[in-house]
Amino acid sequence: MTATFLDLVKVRNIGIMAHIDAGKTTTAERILFYTGVSHRIGEVHDGTAALDFMKQERDRGITITSAATTCHWDGHTLNLIDTPGHVDFTVEVERCLRVLDGAVAVFDAVAGVEPQSETVWRQADRYGVPRVCFVNKMDRAGADLHRCVAMIADRLGAVPLLVQLPIGAEGGFTGVVDLVAMRARVWSGDGLSVRDVPSALVEEARRRRGRLVETVAELDEPLMALYLEGAEPSAEQLHAAIRRVTLASAATPVFCGSAFKNKGVQPLLDGVVRYLPSPLDVGAGQRERPPEDEPLAALAFKIMSDRHLGRLTFVRIYSGRLESGATVLNSVKGRRERIGKLYRMHANAREEIASAGAGDIVAVMGLKRTTTGETLCEESHPVVLESMDFPAPVIEVA
Ligand code: GDP
Repeated sequence: MTATFLDLVKVRNIGIMAHIDAGKTTTAERILFYTGVSHRIGEVHDGTAALDFMKQERDRGITITSAATTCHWDGHTLNLIDTPGHVDFTVEVERCLRVLDGAVAVFDAVAGVEPQSETVWRQADRYGVPRVCFVNKMDRAGADLHRCVAMIADRLGAVPLLVQLPIGAEGGFTGVVDLVAMRARVWSGDGLSVRDVPSALVEEARRRRGRLVETVAELDEPLMALYLEGAEPSAEQLHAAIRRVTLASAATPVFCGSAFKNKGVQPLLDGVVRYLPSPLDVGAGQRERPPEDEPLAALAFKIMSDRHLGRLTFVRIYSGRLESGATVLNSVKGRRERIGKLYRMHANAREEIASAGAGDIVAVMGLKRTTTGETLCEESHPVVLESMDFPAPVIEVA
């Protein structure tokens, strides 16, 4: 049991939001598969290994339904936060938006933007949560990425940035062209391979990349400067510009795939890491000290009952450190609480940790009085985190 250090720049606290049936659960499961057992990806031939793995995991009752599941991608720590997608849980969704820094919005490529996607999208707008879109179910008959992108603009009032083109359609959907890097990623019997853009798509890909650059340049000065010079931005320059406009919630990159057929999730994860904020990007510029050097402030956002561990309180730490065994103040109730064991929940394991720092999301065992929406802090520095006020960090009460 060692103290943990999280490089905050490499943390992504994200939620998945979707209309019911768009494929939120399937996408989350695939994310956990690819991130949790990435060392086994070489063994995945036609996707059945992924499905077998997930069936086993489900039979064992793993914690993919955990309020926050930690996984890793490309050297980054991803905390996948469960936000109920059903409209009845609107209040819960709002609470979670305070806890997550960015989100993946999943759409059904046939149905496009559905009423409930609109509701959740507007909440995310209200709280300024940067989003990337995943147009799922590209394998279905009638799947239409471009129609869905048009709906994201028309119905949601967003500026969609199409960063991929599908290769093949419906049952023949086999991969995507990455318009930023101008490379193809194709799923086949041997897994995922990176290839040249198929010749039949080269012209369309160039045209669409040009449009992508224009759209981003209109929102981003450094890219506009390049554009006016007539220079073709490199993949790195374009990535950086897309990240800036996404973080500003001025635009939203759009990815596509078929989670069910195990196609498209790895590029989506690359997009999460590239374009969505770290905890340091949220409220950046407001802090005088690193958040970890400030007194403890943590928000309880979900209580769950674990079969083995009993009552678990999921908290997001905004500043300071939370230590196992420490006594803290529940500033809403004005009562002391003792921190029991601390866990990071993974898809197929839980990791006991001695302490956790700012930006992190962990499960706490042993809290008796704390309920959702309440703040834990140091007795000497009482604060109340305003759970509905995103992203203003802290309101002092004393
Ligand atoms: P949720 O309600 O948003 O969590 O949606 P689910 O992940 O439970 O998926 C709803 C249904 O759509 C299930 O029957 C899935 O098997 C199916 N589904 C999910 N992803 C895909 C996909 O990429 N292609 C197809 N054809 N079906 C999918």
